Amino acid sequence: MILYTLRCSHDHHFEEWFSNSADYDAKKEAGELKCPECGDTQVGKAIMAPKVAKAAAAPAPACMPGGAGGGCGGCAFAGQH
Ligand SMILES: [Zn+2]
Repeated sequence: MILYTLRCSHDHHFEEWFSNSADYDAKKEAGELKCPECGDTQVGKAIMAPKVAKAAAAPAPACMPGGAGGGCGGCAFAGQH
């Protein structure tokens, strides 16, 4: 389960639990994400770093050790692993 802080187009913030990021995408596409304050469905993630309730099941993405910049410095996941 992942807790996302969501934000509507009127800058209301609220939190919603999702099974995973695909669950978020599916509910967003289906228009099921709605601001509890104004009912707006123009909702997006307010922050990029969700809280994770359990240890992530997915392994850390691989990068090229010793690559340009050294270690993870040059990969897309720099600073995340
Ligand atoms: Zn709102």
